[in-house]
Amino acid sequence: MLLIKNGRVIDPGSRTDAALDILLDGERIANVGAGLSAPAAETFDAKGLIVAPGFIDLHCHLREPGQEISETIETGARAAARGGFTALCCMPNTQPVNDSASVTRGIVERAAASACVRVWPIGAVSVGSKGEALAEIAAMKDAGIVGVSDDGKPVATARLMRQAMDYCRTLDLLVIDHCEDPSLFAGGVMREGPTSVRLGLKGIPAQSESICAGRDVELAMLTGARLHIAHMSTRGSLEFVRSAKRLNLPVTCEVTPHHFTLIDEDVRYDTNYKMNPPLASRSDRQALIEGLADGSVDAIATDHAPHHPASKDVEFDRAPFGITGFETALALGLAELVHAGKIPLMRLVELFTTGPARVLGRERKLAAGQPADLTIFSPDHAWTFRACESASKSRNTPFDGRAFRGAPMATIVAGRVVYRREAAATA
Ligand SMILES: [Zn+2]
Ligand SMILES: [Zn+2]
Repeated sequence: MLLIKNGRVIDPGSRTDAALDILLDGERIANVGAGLSAPAAETFDAKGLIVAPGFIDLHCHLREPGQEISETIETGARAAARGGFTALCCMPNTQPVNDSASVTRGIVERAAASACVRVWPIGAVSVGSKGEALAEIAAMKDAGIVGVSDDGKPVATARLMRQAMDYCRTLDLLVIDHCEDPSLFAGGVMREGPTSVRLGLKGIPAQSESICAGRDVELAMLTGARLHIAHMSTRGSLEFVRSAKRLNLPVTCEVTPHHFTLIDEDVRYDTNYKMNPPLASRSDRQALIEGLADGSVDAIATDHAPHHPASKDVEFDRAPFGITGFETALALGLAELVHAGKIPLMRLVELFTTGPARVLGRERKLAAGQPADLTIFSPDHAWTFRACESASKSRNTPFDGRAFRGAPMATIVAGRVVYRREAAATA
């Protein structure tokens, strides 16, 4: 048994923000209350720290099977635990693509053997994510997927998306889309605007994303399927999500820390600023922050996309898209949203916990009988992120060397402390 004492418990599910203790018994929460005592239990002193439900990341890339040089399920999970995440959803663009029950089972088995956090795979929408025939979605669901996506690319056509949605509606399965119009994207490498012109880099208009988001919202209306817009980065896409929510359609969306932190004007000839969707305009970033504040955005998701140093150490045009994200996500949320006065701490915790849980159709709360998954963090611990100290196998981040106020201090999965920051060892 583990007794977490003296913490400030923030549980968005019950709007709790109070000084409470939490007793864990094996894999479950045994009790939540004031002044708990359990003489036989090990004690964790959470004085000065926030105790929250376990963080869930709806969007990451673990690269296993197939690209273990960049990341494995084991190293990705360790990096996630250091970021405070107790569960993560991994995208299917591995080699082979997770488009069959046997690949799904392989990921679930590798995770059970090597991952220190929960791993919930996402299956492909189409065979090989090629955008032609539907993948064997029902069999993958039986094997453990929590949603489908062709992430890395959009679901290729409206017709295929309609088929996927009709099918997933009967399975009550989430359809996640990486929104992009390939004819507008057309080989671009950053957001189209004055900065892309100045740098001489090929631009991608914001409408490449929002046109596809609009298509998907229309199809969600047609089919009634649960649609989730991945890594939403533009005001236009947000407006489509808002209109869907006004109609009570089951449409949700996520925003990444890099999109609420950086903008296209920050891009330089450094491939750690190359991601897809690209960093947006100042006005789009402002819209995303408004959506995070007013409830239009459901979750913060990292889109952790590790790439081996050699693959990123090339010209901007030739580098792959994506940056790592687990270990800086919470600190960026605290810095850019909470300390900056844009949202209260309760709302930030919601965006990492009950928000993503609801997207998946699950529950996340601190109550007796619930899984003993907790994230304990400091809102003001001073530290500096060093990519070379990351648990990830990759180093592709624009936040190397950034000083932060606030950090994950301990990550508890099924009652087990899977990560603990040394400075927290005051008990
Ligand atoms: Zn994507
Ligand atoms: Zn992705």
